[in-house]
Amino acid sequence: MELTIMERILTTGILKAKEGNFATLKALRTARQALEIDEEDHRAAEMEQNYNCPKCGWTGYFPIGAQPRCAFCATPLAAGTQLKWDPTAPPREMPLGEIATAIIAGHLRDLDRAGKLTDDLLSLYEKVADGG
Ligand SMILES: [Zn+2]
Repeated sequence: MELTIMERILTTGILKAKEGNFATLKALRTARQALEIDEEDHRAAEMEQNYNCPKCGWTGYFPIGAQPRCAFCATPLAAGTQLKWDPTAPPREMPLGEIATAIIAGHLRDLDRAGKLTDDLLSLYEKVADGG
């Protein structure tokens, strides 16, 4: 199925928390690898990461993998953990396999039944779990 970057990040989170038998765990690992954000995503979605200056505290966003320097004191910046990207970047086909897809769908339906779906999961629910 075709997933956006945000849907892939959310899906990876769902798949991380699961336990199971050998075949299930192998299937989940394969699916997580398929979901990983790669250089094609960096380019296609113009992904950027936050960096901050350890000396003066200045912060800014730069392309992932850049080695920027502070605009004020020229100190090499330290990479942070925040990412941003173009949310209109086209979704990519993700070969998740039957086992992983069923686990994602089951997890989302559990949240739905418990009244615990969140807004950011709506589009994923519609793609994976709706009608099942
Ligand atoms: Zn600085």
